[in-house]
Amino acid sequence: MRTDEIRRELASIISAVKARIDLERRFGADTITLSRLKKVASVPSPALVVQTKPVEVPVAKKSMVEQNTSSNVGTNGCSPSDAQKTSGDQTPMSGKAQKIKLLEELKNELLTCHKCPLGKTRTNLVFGVGDPAARLMFAGEAPGRDEDMQGEPFVGRAGQLLTKIIEAIGMERSNVYIANVLKCRPPGNRNPMPDEIVLCMPYLIKQIEIIQPKVLCALGTFAAQTLLNTTAPVGTLRGKFHDYKGIPMMVTYHPAYLLRNPNDKVKVWDDMKKVRDFLNE
Ligand code: URA
Repeated sequence: MRTDEIRRELASIISAVKARIDLERRFGADTITLSRLKKVASVPSPALVVQTKPVEVPVAKKSMVEQNTSSNVGTNGCSPSDAQKTSGDQTPMSGKAQKIKLLEELKNELLTCHKCPLGKTRTNLVFGVGDPAARLMFAGEAPGRDEDMQGEPFVGRAGQLLTKIIEAIGMERSNVYIANVLKCRPPGNRNPMPDEIVLCMPYLIKQIEIIQPKVLCALGTFAAQTLLNTTAPVGTLRGKFHDYKGIPMMVTYHPAYLLRNPNDKVKVWDDMKKVRDFLNE
């Protein structure tokens, strides 16, 4: 190999290592193990980390919730008491208060749901968390052990990574809404069964209808395939906006997958930049 070729090769390796370290920092890592750095040769080129062009996405349709309520929906978090404050026969509820009320009603319905056996084995219902007026909503798979214990989605290791991903696009966890396809933990963290998905999916669909986010983000195979009614692999679905009933939906890898396959963080970062750019348009 000629000296200038070696220089170019070295420069490209250094640039790939820098891009990877930058990405790990963005996603919250304060240390990177040597074994991960050794794999850097297989990391996609740093060109993948640069800004991609925004893609054409369908315009979200107005939901029943938006049509029936005022349009001054903020993006700040709020307490359930906001719903009571503005409810009543005379005073029309704000869009946000209406959403809180509808979500509370749905949660109460779910608390007594025993359509499948998971309602008996769970510790807590894991309904959803975040801002009912969120512009960005994430759909995951099913609660794991930590989520089952705490009654909140994405609070374990995968959840902590999701929080970092949200922060990497300049948002806060409390500004988005997070829910799962299944609301009860499958024992031993096994995959959701097809009949469980069929029975529980209407609740996620209802949550999306109530929240009407500007962008939806499906995390992993189960959420993506179920919402898009497809068997296509997540690897081919990711990175693009799909149309979910008029709402642009990005598909990306599940944070738990990323914990096992850190080299794919660069793809998730690409996907999330598209989400960020669309929200900022
Ligand atoms: N994985 C999910 O899909 N959802 C959670 O809430 C936690 C882990």
